Amino acid sequence: MEHIFCDVLVVGSGAAGLRAAISAKQKGLDVCVISKQAPGKATCTILSAGVFAGTEKNKSSGHHLRRTLQAGRGINQPELVKVLVEEGPMRLKELKKWGINAEFHRGYLFCKGRAPYRGREIVQCLLTKNETLGTQFISGQLVTDLKPLEEAFGVLAYSPGVDKWLTIGAKSVILATGGAGALYLRHDNPKRMFGDGYVLALKAGAALQDMEFVQFYPLDLQRRIEILLGAQAASLIIQAALKRKESRGSHFREDFSDQDDDNWQGHLQVKLSRNGEANWNFRAIS
Ligand SMILES: Cc1cc2nc3c(=O)[nH]c(=O)nc-3n(C[C@H](O)[C@H](O)[C@H](O)COP(=O)(O)OP(=O)(O)OC[C@H]3O[C@@H](n4cnc5c(N)ncnc54)[C@H](O)[C@@H]3O)c2cc1C
Repeated sequence: MEHIFCDVLVVGSGAAGLRAAISAKQKGLDVCVISKQAPGKATCTILSAGVFAGTEKNKSSGHHLRRTLQAGRGINQPELVKVLVEEGPMRLKELKKWGINAEFHRGYLFCKGRAPYRGREIVQCLLTKNETLGTQFISGQLVTDLKPLEEAFGVLAYSPGVDKWLTIGAKSVILATGGAGALYLRHDNPKRMFGDGYVLALKAGAALQDMEFVQFYPLDLQRRIEILLGAQAASLIIQAALKRKESRGSHFREDFSDQDDDNWQGHLQVKLSRNGEANWNFRAIS
């Protein structure tokens, strides 16, 4: 069985893992990134719509903080929202400096990748930066065990393609294994997003928090009735987008380019009458 050693082992090569590896490398450490597939492949990051929010131009970070807490109905963790709001704009500037192929509008970053891999540009940018810094990559390996030892971690990984095991010793391990969307029958995540990192962390003695929050879009239309419902939903989504008279996040409208929180921060509600007509309402966030 092969054995390797490094200062920092990063499990996962999506945006979180690749960015963490850059920080560790910049501290002069010996860093290795391991993932189930080739670096950056089969990640939510590469499949994402590639739109990332910073603070709106001409708006304060306090405004971004308030809006995010309000949208989270007060159940967000304020200290994490603070990190997001304070560091977000810095991270977007950093990506710009590192040459990401993206557009920047009013504090938001829009990757220029093509659907369904719009996030490819973010992966490419972070991978290139890692390559410049000399990060090592191990691909096609599934981390199965993580054991805290006295002064390091013992990690076991399996390569299903060649039926081989690998052991890794690392002074620190960063779990950046993404979510667990693929546990559901229909989802828009890569096929193997099973929440492995949750189990690895639990077994290593970490506490998990807020496991009930899972986000994905159930996009698969499998039967005719779903296609009909899907077509109706799509038409309502388009109508809802047209009803708004302002731009927000990725919903940029050239005809109404300003964000208008006073009049538009709220829920646009729709109810269908028996004859299929849509009745629209606007409800404030409570
Ligand atoms: C269709 C879609 C659109 C989205 N659009 C947006 C958007 O526009 N804006 C936005 O902000 N967010 C968006 N998101 C969410 C965003 O993409 C994710 O939150 C983010 O990419 C997660 O990054 P990550 O690095 O944590 O995980 P991922 O990018 O999913 O990476 C997980 C990594 O962990 C590895 N891994 C997992 N288990 C193991 C194991 N046992 N052994 C080895 N490696 C393992 C995987 O191989 C992979 O490399 C979208 C998500 C989807 C699915």
